[in-house]
Amino acid sequence: MMTESEISCEWVEESYFTACSSNEHFNGEASISQGGPCKANVQSQLVINVVHRCKLIASTALGDDGTGGGGGTPGSGGGLGGGNEEPEIPTKPNLPPSKGNNNPCEKIKAQRADINFQNKIADLQGKTRLKKETGYIQRANGEYTYKDNASATNQANELSLPTAEEPANQDIIAYLHTHVDDYEYYDPENPVITITKKGFKIFSPADISYFMTMIKNAQDAGRPLGDVYAVLVSSLKNYQIRFTGNQYQIKTFTADQKETFRETFIKYMSKNKKMSLELKFLKFIDESMNTKGVSLYRLNSDGTTAEIKLNADKTDLVEITCP
Ligand SMILES: [Zn+2]
Repeated sequence: MMTESEISCEWVEESYFTACSSNEHFNGEASISQGGPCKANVQSQLVINVVHRCKLIASTALGDDGTGGGGGTPGSGGGLGGGNEEPEIPTKPNLPPSKGNNNPCEKIKAQRADINFQNKIADLQGKTRLKKETGYIQRANGEYTYKDNASATNQANELSLPTAEEPANQDIIAYLHTHVDDYEYYDPENPVITITKKGFKIFSPADISYFMTMIKNAQDAGRPLGDVYAVLVSSLKNYQIRFTGNQYQIKTFTADQKETFRETFIKYMSKNKKMSLELKFLKFIDESMNTKGVSLYRLNSDGTTAEIKLNADKTDLVEITCP
């Protein structure tokens, strides 16, 4: 779990007071004979220890949710052979991306004006300080269901969503979820070590994988692909993804692929410090995951929405504010 980590150690003095033997004094109070208030036989005493304390800065990605406890994706993956091989994509230009209205800007605008959606976002926004991810799924009938991981631990705090491949879950059209604030905890195996859990405040490969499975399910059921979306809420920025590709760009990932991408994503995001999070994310899904047709929208706090995409040579971002 702990890749790309840095460890720093130092000797530090740690002090504390014992309780006096009558258990009434805790702050080094002196005995009566020394002019203090403590009548006990043994007074509260200061103990000083010098301990070797280490901090581990772990660059672990949060938000590897959607894996639902593993389980491969049945059916055809997109043929991600060695990682970078281009799958055979028939070139049929100008294919309509889906039936019906697929104007993501319009759809997001309508959503952001919807009180029900607003309440979900506000609820999640208040939960980014929790040490576990929380979220909602939405089904094709519009119903939202709250999700959190009751058995989350400091180390494993990902949100588990219903396995989207199962028939009962194939009508899930959306999920909204948090990537939580960075936090510190003591290593349970070596409590002198403080571990800082850092997460990327952007969608993870697992998030993309779950999203693509929802897209595939919608395609199989003949539902509009434009109704499928995923939302990320963090204390930094909020995002949404939508599918704007064609049917040949629909692909799903196996459990093995997801695990590989989880690791390579952490490495990729941890280096390349000069690139913004958004740029790195878009390059990773385009170049490493070879996933096309996934559009990223930033839900700005002033109520505006902007599509963020790669420029022509994929070296920078182009930002287009939704009308
Ligand atoms: Zn996530």
